[in-house]
Amino acid sequence: MEVVIVGGGIGGLTLALTLDKAGIPSRVFESSPEIKPIGVGINLLPHATKELARLGLDKDLARVAVETREAVFFNRFGQLIYREPLGCAAGYEQPQFSVHRGDLQMVLLDAVRRRLGEDRVLSGWKCVGFEQDATGAAALFRSTVTGEGLAPQRGSVVVACDGIHSVIRKQLHPGEGEPLYSGVNMWRGVTRWPAFLSGASMVRAGWLKCGKMVIYPIRERIDAEGRQLVNWVAEIETPRHQQRDWNRRGSLDDFLGAFEEWHFDWLDVPAFIRAADAVLEFPMVDQDPLPFWTQGRVTLLGDAAHPMVPRGSNGAGQAILDARALADALVTHRDPAEALQAYEAKRREATANVVRMNRQNPPDAILREVFVRSGDRPFERIEDVIPIEELKAISERYKRVAGYDRESLSGPAAAGGK
Ligand SMILES: Cc1cc2nc3c(=O)[nH]c(=O)nc-3n(C[C@H](O)[C@H](O)[C@H](O)COP(=O)(O)OP(=O)(O)OC[C@H]3O[C@@H](n4cnc5c(N)ncnc54)[C@H](O)[C@@H]3O)c2cc1C
Repeated sequence: MEVVIVGGGIGGLTLALTLDKAGIPSRVFESSPEIKPIGVGINLLPHATKELARLGLDKDLARVAVETREAVFFNRFGQLIYREPLGCAAGYEQPQFSVHRGDLQMVLLDAVRRRLGEDRVLSGWKCVGFEQDATGAAALFRSTVTGEGLAPQRGSVVVACDGIHSVIRKQLHPGEGEPLYSGVNMWRGVTRWPAFLSGASMVRAGWLKCGKMVIYPIRERIDAEGRQLVNWVAEIETPRHQQRDWNRRGSLDDFLGAFEEWHFDWLDVPAFIRAADAVLEFPMVDQDPLPFWTQGRVTLLGDAAHPMVPRGSNGAGQAILDARALADALVTHRDPAEALQAYEAKRREATANVVRMNRQNPPDAILREVFVRSGDRPFERIEDVIPIEELKAISERYKRVAGYDRESLSGPAAAGGK
């Protein structure tokens, strides 16, 4: 049995490693001519770091990531709304890591090359569709470099890990249309900056209507002054947006105005944004949950299966949980088609709940409640605006749906939310 994996992003590479641990061979076909460390910051919450530790990657990750210790919420006047510990600081056995997506991808890629062999990851292979019969499935390819057709690659199953614009998803669901714009546009970047707050804080501040920021460090001690590489995202409600392209350059003039007054004692936000290495612009998009992921011996995984708006730090994590569930199903079921159905039964509704929750009540709903109830004005005491228990309940509810509440993680590793 060999699994054909389409896409060498976070989900595809994790799947290759998870299958390898289960004794199942695979090959990864990636469209980029060369896998380069692209992207900005990503968070790996305890459900994902538990799986990566099971794969023996915890030390490699700890070397390149920041172990995030707390979540902190502020209004746009810099007033503290809510603070809670994260990862090991919150009593989990597993840490939360904030990491550059490129560093995470390189940790996974190095492990795949070392454990499976250099020849198991092929780049420059752009999938253009699939075909299948009763005994197997084949992914169809063109060369990204020359545009020429390449030999179909056959396996016992084909798994589409080709991200938000998945061609295999389009073949399974031809009438679906493009990703749905949420009404929020994002500008993202990284800035070299001295440590702020605890030095390992994930900050969410403001609100989407007037401008919201997410800020957290992703690399430690990057220079002689001991500065960190700090990831930031500015999110603003606006009809103005363009199609998602991970490399699209953004312009400060388009969003900085919303944050010009944000001079806090822990961070001068406009100065911090101006000092960014580069600014990227992405629309915040997702897709409605699908009625099915699997057809015979072909299935979807990660963003190809369940793209979600990035408001709960769960995009990479859910792809990692998918990989575990799929490998488990292939071990348990002799018939590969049955295994894919079992995988889908475990993960489709669980991830659909995260997609919906990210739209309505992700952790930053804490900011929305304070924005609405305070009339977007400074407060004397947060308790006059909203009870702290209610803020805690928003955070805890999200953890349960996404599958990283303490109770869900205390048993043997189990992929899935509730
Ligand atoms: C270049 C890039 C930068 C990103 N930056 C960020 C970021 O800064 N922050 C963040 O939160 N998320 C980012 N993401 C998304 C994030 O990685 C995913 O949401 C999440 O990790 C789920 O992983 P995935 O493997 O499903 O998708 P992805 O990590 O998106 O991986 C999909 C992979 O499939 C490949 N691919 C696409 N089409 C084809 C095809 N036709 N044939 C073969 N291969 C194909 C892509 O090149 C990519 O390597 C980025 C994704 C990409 C591709």
